[in-house]
Amino acid sequence: MDKKALYNLSYGVFMVGTKSGDRKNGCITNTCIQVTNDPLRVAAAVINANYTAELIKESGMFTLSMLDKTVSFDTIKHFGFQSGRDVDKLANLTLPEDDNGIPYMGWSACAMLSCKVVDSMDLGSHTLFIAEITDAKVLSDKAPLTYADYQNEVKPKPAKVDSEKKIVGWKCKICGYVYEGSELPKDYSCPICGHGPDDFEPVYA
Ligand code: FE
Repeated sequence: MDKKALYNLSYGVFMVGTKSGDRKNGCITNTCIQVTNDPLRVAAAVINANYTAELIKESGMFTLSMLDKTVSFDTIKHFGFQSGRDVDKLANLTLPEDDNGIPYMGWSACAMLSCKVVDSMDLGSHTLFIAEITDAKVLSDKAPLTYADYQNEVKPKPAKVDSEKKIVGWKCKICGYVYEGSELPKDYSCPICGHGPDDFEPVYA
């Protein structure tokens, strides 16, 4: 199976913001869609291992910020490739908040939705949250980023390999983890951040 086929599904890319008590967090996801218009509802699938999923389960509230084409890979990395359990992602940021005090993106987002969970289903790797849209704002006139744009234009390209040199390991470009060995298995995923072989670069002797 060529899982790259799934890169062609036409998703958006979103920052999901949430809070429970005084704990706030946000992560990046592509798995969000509007599912009904009366009542007005969205479905958002969030990885169960993510701190964001834990907080949404507690509070039943989240925001969806629709990222636009100006978003940098550093922003994606900040929200997407580290865990709110290890770092306070919002500590040095002043993000706007909706009427419920839930943070949303203050830059590189063209619109936002405030969402209140009405149902949820555990699907294994993710929990699917069905939520009512309680507020919505247009934030800019920039074009929304699609998941294909992210794969083709925002995410760093796979590293070129210098065949003259001896490879002794592979380093994850996302989190820095180093796999020791000359050949990275094709179906490998990083034990720290879960990213696949395309996100590894060779370490030479
Ligand atoms: Fe990694």
